[in-house]
Amino acid sequence: MSSLNIRNALLLSLACSSVALTACETTQTSQTPAKSHSTVKADTHKKAHWGYGEHGSVAPSEWGDMQGNAVCKTGKEQSPINVTEATKSIMPLNFKQGFQAEDFTVKNNGHTVVFNATNPSKNKISVYGKTFELLQFHFHAPSEHTIMNHHYPLEIHFVHKSKDGQLAVVGVLYKAGPDNAQLAKVADKLVKKGQKATLANFNVSSIMPKNKQTLAYNGSLTTPPCSEKVQWLLQKTPVTASKGELTKFINSYKGNNRPVQAINGRTVSID
Ligand SMILES: [Zn+2]
Repeated sequence: MSSLNIRNALLLSLACSSVALTACETTQTSQTPAKSHSTVKADTHKKAHWGYGEHGSVAPSEWGDMQGNAVCKTGKEQSPINVTEATKSIMPLNFKQGFQAEDFTVKNNGHTVVFNATNPSKNKISVYGKTFELLQFHFHAPSEHTIMNHHYPLEIHFVHKSKDGQLAVVGVLYKAGPDNAQLAKVADKLVKKGQKATLANFNVSSIMPKNKQTLAYNGSLTTPPCSEKVQWLLQKTPVTASKGELTKFINSYKGNNRPVQAINGRTVSID
């Protein structure tokens, strides 16, 4: 994947990078079927748990039929997306990051491994003048967002929340290349379900790209309940890691990526 090609003054054709996010924290079980669903399907969804179709779990194409998850199917601003072009934003994103080392508690939630910040106020970002605190980060393998239909082997979502409850997710894509000693620290903490760990004194900026060029768009959680009004901040520049490091994530969860969703007229802006 490469970079951006200017198509005209405002439009850019993307060749590389993106990020996506989701709060993979949510665990919700299906109790009742959607009205449109057949009885047979309804039965299969009873007590079923959402997933990616593995071990009888409810696959992404049917999340919207599960109770409380209708927006997964009916929403018009769903994530992830395939990024094919970006428009120079009229309103400056003004993306600022204030990250410092902090401790994370690590938990495998059955869908991904989540690194929960022990002190969210230590790490903040701001976009469009609004401040968000880092709650957690987690991964998807392969990437959820695609650039020109290209998946990266790994995508990490850094989930932030504002005081009034709005979510902003910084997505970072990773590709094979030189060793990444910082990402290796994360890879070494990918616990199995039921186990716990701590990632101490870790600065998340160390596994983000130095080039902060950002693809911003309005989207959703990429896991049920697929809630919208998520400010996505996909980092255009992928970060490299060794194949061995990437393999540790893939061995932890492979295929925990929701397929890309319809753009529905949304624009992706680039600052
Ligand atoms: Zn996610």
